[in-house]
Amino acid sequence: MPGLKDIDKIKAQALAAIASASTQDDLNNISIKYLGRKGVITSILKSLKDLPIEQRKSVGAAANKIKVEIDQEIKSALNKFKISRVKAGIDPTLPGIARRLGAIHPITQVIDDMCRSFHGMGFAIERGPEVETDYYNFEALNFPPDHPARDMQDTFYVEGNDLVLRTHTTPVQARVLEKCKLPVKVITPGKTYRNEEISTRSYCVFHQVDGFLVDEGVTMADLKGVLVAFCRDFFGEGMSLRFRPSYFPFTEPSVEVDISCFLCRGKGCQLCKYSGWLEILGAGMIDPNVLKMADIDSEKYTGYAFGIGVERIAMLKYGINDIRLFYENDIRFIRQFI
Ligand SMILES: [Zn+2]
Repeated sequence: MPGLKDIDKIKAQALAAIASASTQDDLNNISIKYLGRKGVITSILKSLKDLPIEQRKSVGAAANKIKVEIDQEIKSALNKFKISRVKAGIDPTLPGIARRLGAIHPITQVIDDMCRSFHGMGFAIERGPEVETDYYNFEALNFPPDHPARDMQDTFYVEGNDLVLRTHTTPVQARVLEKCKLPVKVITPGKTYRNEEISTRSYCVFHQVDGFLVDEGVTMADLKGVLVAFCRDFFGEGMSLRFRPSYFPFTEPSVEVDISCFLCRGKGCQLCKYSGWLEILGAGMIDPNVLKMADIDSEKYTGYAFGIGVERIAMLKYGINDIRLFYENDIRFIRQFI
């Protein structure tokens, strides 16, 4: 049977083992070895009844004392491991951190939805350069050099006056018409730039989805048909469209198109400024001069074109009242569209 000397030896062995433990598992094993149900100290305490009565008290007291000491040593060693892990930035005892998944920006989502809608109606998708030549941005679209309509678009010029940051995505139309085989039916989504004062309604960067069709016998009725189909697909059934005469250099006649306010269904509300209508896009029949610039026989072929401001559509669809929110990368705003 163990005596007091043995108990001292056991204590020394246990403390040495604790001091040299290099992992939490080592400490758990030491705890089991000495303090477990079949552990060394537990066995001593269980066998006290076999000792002579005069030894029982002293051995029992000593065994109980080292039991407490070993237990405390193990706990404090475990604690040191925990602190060193936290300092190293790792605490396996903490609950895991759920990683948030990224999502598609609302503007990109709206462009994708628009492209899907038009693609379903047979439109191909074409993209072009954001730094554009003066020719494609203006001249090929019936803006001669001194044309006053150039003032309608506050342009960012690059390296003198030959290159510009494109002010619309319609230059892609001019590029496509130049090289395509007719008939052609294309949408041109992309980023555009205008030197506008930044406010809740306008920003120096924005996006457009332009579209056009050139074929024999294309009329305004075809344009109306495609725009009605798009608006019903995008905003929901039951939308009415209103065409108002307007002016763009590259279309003749030109129209601005309103949809019946989807919030108040035409009754009048703050969104539609109590008019019952929301302006959503510009459109028209492609000016014969634009077709001539691309060497297309404007006697034989006609076409329509439309241009939709993506931010405007997104703001209307989601009830967003400040265009700047799209560009500030405030995660709280963007997260709402996941
Ligand atoms: Zn309304």
